[in-house]
Amino acid sequence: MSRAHNFCAGPAALPEAVLQRAQAEMLDWQDKGLSVMEMSHRSADYVAIAEQAEQDLRDLMQIPDHYKVLFMQGGASQQFAQIPLNLLPEGKVADYIDTGIWSRKSSQEAARFGQINIAASGKELDYFGIPEQSQWQLTPDAAYVHYASNETIGGVQFNWVPQTGEVPLVVDMSSDILSRQINVADFGMIYAGAQKNIGPSGLVVAIIREDLLGQARAICPTMLNYQTAADNGSMYNTPPTYAWYLAGLVFQWLKEQGGVAAMEARNREKQALLYSAIDQSELYNNPVALNARSWMNIPFRLADERLDKAFLVGAEARGLLNLKGHRSVGGMRASIYNAVDIHSVQALVDYMREFEKEQA
Ligand SMILES: *Cc1c(COP(=O)(O)O)cnc(C)c1O
Repeated sequence: MSRAHNFCAGPAALPEAVLQRAQAEMLDWQDKGLSVMEMSHRSADYVAIAEQAEQDLRDLMQIPDHYKVLFMQGGASQQFAQIPLNLLPEGKVADYIDTGIWSRKSSQEAARFGQINIAASGKELDYFGIPEQSQWQLTPDAAYVHYASNETIGGVQFNWVPQTGEVPLVVDMSSDILSRQINVADFGMIYAGAQKNIGPSGLVVAIIREDLLGQARAICPTMLNYQTAADNGSMYNTPPTYAWYLAGLVFQWLKEQGGVAAMEARNREKQALLYSAIDQSELYNNPVALNARSWMNIPFRLADERLDKAFLVGAEARGLLNLKGHRSVGGMRASIYNAVDIHSVQALVDYMREFEKEQA
């Protein structure tokens, strides 16, 4: 068996140790004679798996007790609708910060349900940077302020947390949750689709301050109401049981690695290795402002786009997979989430240098 270096933006690489454990437990979970996939979500065994996953996430992120942790379906994109349905009462305004494709999608969806204000936009910076908060036009009594901490496609990341006073901050952390330390209490709500830094797709994790529950619109479907999930331990209906179990295995793996602080140190090293290779070369270029460069998703272009194809073919021959940039951006993109080891980044950097030499 040989495992490739997978730089996919999502669904993304998972820790090999987690896949091995899932494999070992696949047919017969802890001598119970059945797979986790085949268990009732109401069984004591499964409930224990689910509760352990939540507890491990709480430990990893030091989530305060007055926050609920919800495991839901529909991905981050469904949250784009769920957030206004739950948190934007009639007559109120929600502020959105537009820094790229994902935050734009979230604001466009929210606009279907209520009044929103684009309080700041990266447009003037060609979406290669993040406007400073001093330039934001925040609504004083907004229902919430929404932003995406990491724009997975543009490779633009906040390295600071907006200050919104009493107005709850709602953040899409799909592609950088658990990659560096944060203070959960800075946020009203954090949400993340699982398939970047948590586990397989089909699951979204939301961390919500309890006082924000219970204000959903009357038309909000039962299944989309956070209160429903909170009141039922995220098991109002059948949850994505296997994805939740795998997320739990990833949380255990993260703890074994030393937790979020250890991941932050590794991620710092990984991104420095790749950005310095890009910056030192004549061939590769990353256009993002230095203070907004993503640690997780690193887009880069070749000086001559006619070389793109040869670059990708050579990469694939070396087991460096999924480096093609998003169709809207072009060029290349390396996603180096928690599960991507520094050896994979080193293999990429070695190849980039060799490819550049070949062009000389
Ligand atoms: C991937 C991603 C999404 C969309 O996630 P789905 O689970 O596919 O809906 C939303 N926001 C960000 C920041 C993402 O990276």
